[in-house]
Amino acid sequence: MSKFENYNEWYLDMVEKAKLSDKRYPIKGMNVWTPYGWKIMRFVDTYLREELDGTDHDEVCFPLFIPETEFKKEKDHIKGFDSEVFWVTKAGNNELDVPLVVRPTSETAMYPMFSLWIRSHQDLPLKVYQIVNTFRYETKQTRPFMRVREIHFFESHTCHDTEEDAQCQVEEDLEIVKRLMHRLCLPYFLLKRTDWDKFPGAHYTVGIDTVMPNHRTLQLGSVHHYRTNFSKPYNITYEDENGDHPYVHQTTYGMSERLLGAIISVHGDDSGLILPPDVAPFQVVIIPILSKKNADEVTKACVAVKEKLASAGFRVKLDDRDDRPGSKFFDWEIKGVPLRFEIGGRDIENGVVTFARRDNGEKGTIALDSLIPGTKLILDQIADSLRAKAWEFQKGAVKAIESMDEIPKDETKGASETNIKEDSLDLRVYSFGWCGCEECGHKFEDEHDIKILGTPYLPGDEYDGKCIVCGKPTKTKAYAARTM
Ligand code: ZN
Repeated sequence: MSKFENYNEWYLDMVEKAKLSDKRYPIKGMNVWTPYGWKIMRFVDTYLREELDGTDHDEVCFPLFIPETEFKKEKDHIKGFDSEVFWVTKAGNNELDVPLVVRPTSETAMYPMFSLWIRSHQDLPLKVYQIVNTFRYETKQTRPFMRVREIHFFESHTCHDTEEDAQCQVEEDLEIVKRLMHRLCLPYFLLKRTDWDKFPGAHYTVGIDTVMPNHRTLQLGSVHHYRTNFSKPYNITYEDENGDHPYVHQTTYGMSERLLGAIISVHGDDSGLILPPDVAPFQVVIIPILSKKNADEVTKACVAVKEKLASAGFRVKLDDRDDRPGSKFFDWEIKGVPLRFEIGGRDIENGVVTFARRDNGEKGTIALDSLIPGTKLILDQIADSLRAKAWEFQKGAVKAIESMDEIPKDETKGASETNIKEDSLDLRVYSFGWCGCEECGHKFEDEHDIKILGTPYLPGDEYDGKCIVCGKPTKTKAYAARTM
């Protein structure tokens, strides 16, 4: 199965063959996390927890249900989510007086409580997060980890006394994004979403996007500045030094299991997954190369190497199944284990282990007396090279254009969701000048059935030329792409 020629099928094949989740559960879009996929996701969660705990956030866990009365307090928010939520209307045999929403995200669950928790400026900033499942009634074609109805979700919510302090929180969140994505070896864009595409209720939204093998982009998460848009309807105020009761300024930052979808898609190849060492359930797999006369000796050497690696903190698997080495190689390639060790009679004689890198197939040996630093070095090299390759692909996917005619017409426009034609790699992520007006933006999007992802959030990616639609001079660059 070819990743670049037939990405959609390749992706589903990988999820199934590597046993990451089971989509046979009898509710569409609600898949079962099977052990290998869950292990990878838990590493991502662990790093998120480390980051959030390390920046003075507290972990909380809010109820799954939200009363309709609370859910409907912020009018843009409800408009944005109304068609996507699941409702609970009955308990036992009784109709509920107030129907309950199954959380699609937790603003409306948390904010009534924030208004009770926050009394004075000494309670600020309030910084909490949770890792929970959220639910959205997805009507488009579902796809494991990328478009599901039950979503493994991370969300942080903060309250601040001033808009500036909330702005600092956005910057801190983006630093967390940067460090997390470094560990996952994933490239990304940080783009300020257009006004018509920001999170319902937000003052502004920064989207975190990455490019898939078919040149469509996948939104991995987002950071929102709410100003006082939610604190007003939820009456979240604090008493300041003068005895006044101003509204708090709020932010949120969210990411989801889409990170796993991106890890699979960005790094994998035609033979299987390629996992970044930081999230690989096993970083090293040891395969004994046995012959009849040295079986005991080889097994003993493998166990010794395994124990040495494990006690140094590596996640290591000794595959001692009664099977041919070639078939074991094949299995662990599909599962994306970054580094394979082979140990046979000759390796023992020479005091080495033979290694093979999953990312580029390179083979070599590590001397047993430098096993620990040697293993660490190669795993670091694998991470570096995955990162470099992924960034290079993302850069190569972007095409700077001066005219809308440079975008190929969409042959699939109007095609039904169940009949999506394979994307042509001719379609790219486009960068161009945009005057910023909504009319030009809509015209651009409608003509090509393409989405404006936004404008660069960080400085250093400016433009000097004309708006691609109206021709007015502009210094603002915008990015657009088809999205997953
Ligand atoms: Zn314009």
